[in-house]
Amino acid sequence: MSDAETVFERIINGEIPAQVVYQDERTFAFRDVNPQAEVHVLVVPRVRYRNLAELAEADGGLLADVVKACRRVAEIEGIAESGYRVVFNTDGDAGQTVFHVHAHVLGGEPLGSFGRS
Ligand code: AMP
Repeated sequence: MSDAETVFERIINGEIPAQVVYQDERTFAFRDVNPQAEVHVLVVPRVRYRNLAELAEADGGLLADVVKACRRVAEIEGIAESGYRVVFNTDGDAGQTVFHVHAHVLGGEPLGSFGRS
């Protein structure tokens, strides 16, 4: 992987402002700048892997921490009971634009179908 920093590392390092929702030793969560639902929060591991598969291969424990952080975000945002969606886009056809693995946590309203638009 290229060593070039992504926008998410700059957010984690405090170089770019973000609306932080939750953070712990291994993960960092902030509101998406272009929300696709009433609640749209990104959960990012502090250590960068390119995508979900690379994260799972390298550190399954960290992947579990990301998923647990998604649950914490849902609780904080008050959507743990109403339901929410967790999405990891991977590469071109999925529309991944930031190559630092991240979970989108979406909810706060009934969500549309997903897949082909
Ligand atoms: P993806 O397309 O899955 O790679 O998701 C990248 C997401 O990052 C998009 O939903 C963007 O809106 C979001 N994003 C990009 N830059 C920022 C930023 N500075 N602060 C918050 N969210 C951002």
